[in-house]
Amino acid sequence: MFFLFGLTTREHLQFTRSATCRYCGRHAPQQVVQRRTKLSVFFIPLITLKKTRVQICTNCGGTSRLSGSGERALAH
Ligand SMILES: [Zn+2]
Repeated sequence: MFFLFGLTTREHLQFTRSATCRYCGRHAPQQVVQRRTKLSVFFIPLITLKKTRVQICTNCGGTSRLSGSGERALAH
């Protein structure tokens, strides 16, 4: 008997906001994306192992991970 395990990462665009990019320094739309890494068995995602939010600059593509304080700053 064998099991087929794997990890799948899905991205969900949560919202886009206008902010100054820390990489290119331009005021450009920044996409806030949630990434979820799930453990899958026979290609069926079962358990969420990791959940992170990243901010992606639409101008240069620079990606930065949002920490807990970064997420709170977005709420204002
Ligand atoms: Zn940028």
